[in-house]
Amino acid sequence: RSVAVVLGTRPELVKLAPLVRLLGDAARLIHTGQHYDDSLSGRFLAELGLPEPTLLDGVGGQARAVQISAALAQLDEEFAARPPRAVVVQGDTNAALSGALAANARDIPLVHIEAGLRSHDRAMPEEHNRVLIDQLSDVLCAATEDNRANLLAESIPAERIAVTGNTVVASVADALPGPTARAALLDAHGLTPDAYVLATVHRPENTDDPAALRSVLTELAALAERLPVLLPLHPRTRARAEAAGLDGLLAPLTLLPPIGYGEFLALARHAALLVSDSGGVQEEVTVLGRPLVVVRRSTERPEAMAAGFADLVSPGPEVGEAARRRLDEGPAGLRRLAATPSPFGDATASERVVALLTDLVTRGTTAAAP
Ligand code: UDP
Repeated sequence: RSVAVVLGTRPELVKLAPLVRLLGDAARLIHTGQHYDDSLSGRFLAELGLPEPTLLDGVGGQARAVQISAALAQLDEEFAARPPRAVVVQGDTNAALSGALAANARDIPLVHIEAGLRSHDRAMPEEHNRVLIDQLSDVLCAATEDNRANLLAESIPAERIAVTGNTVVASVADALPGPTARAALLDAHGLTPDAYVLATVHRPENTDDPAALRSVLTELAALAERLPVLLPLHPRTRARAEAAGLDGLLAPLTLLPPIGYGEFLALARHAALLVSDSGGVQEEVTVLGRPLVVVRRSTERPEAMAAGFADLVSPGPEVGEAARRRLDEGPAGLRRLAATPSPFGDATASERVVALLTDLVTRGTTAAAP
């Protein structure tokens, strides 16, 4: 019997990679297909050294309820035929919620990595996914003490919660190319270290509202008058920008297709500034020591702001203002961040999760160790 690791998107592959590698043959990887095109998943499996997953059908591109129910039905069949000893899910995706519900339905112990994140923004489906997964979980691996406090505030018993740090710290350490490879990569893109901006935009709150998308792209285009602005374009953003007739605002930017993880980290490591609405990037900049403007209404990761790495701004002129403030700090600002420790822990979170998992399956109960 094995540990089923259920996932469905790029950030889950990134953050679960260190754990799956540690589990080796004991891990059974199940990909729901939530985002399975090669640019967002296929190539990440190979790059991160992950085994070929079992891939579910009929999930990608569907409405949220259909994604969750289609994955749940197939996971239930899979768990009935071959019951795992535990199910691991990470984060707040529909895939993670399906995995949690499927474990619950078959009374299989459930481990949630990155438990206790809260944006308190009920307009975000991810917030509902997080709350539901945490309530169902038997072992909650919180990345930070604040995440643990969020769980305790929802009356989750302390004995189910462990503060492990965030697995992404090891993901970055493992995948960041060395200095020579990074220098070659920057050369290939024609970039000078500390003299360009790296941006990502893909959240529905920024892409699906044409006014918000126009406003974010307007600010990025204005920044491009000062420094090159690289934008690896998520398929959703490309489609929405084309549909909204915003191609003119993309023209001043250096557009790339979605890039591999090592390449993204290398570019992030030497960017003067990142501008992003991604969740994972808020954590990665704290490991790489780079400043970030977070373009979101709310965040479930206030730690990056509190430690001085990130500013949270809504789409609009504040994006450009926050970006210029950071860029004006110059090398002194970069040196300060390079010397600031990441609030997301050290590179051993996955080892702590393995210890908790071992304890859980050895005892065969659904109560976590203190
Ligand atoms: N990422 C990547 N290539 C790209 C853009 C992002 O490898 O072109 C990585 C990024 O470093 C982070 C993850 O993908 O680890 C974030 O994924 P996404 O923004 O899709 O999801 P979120 O973190 O917002 O859940």
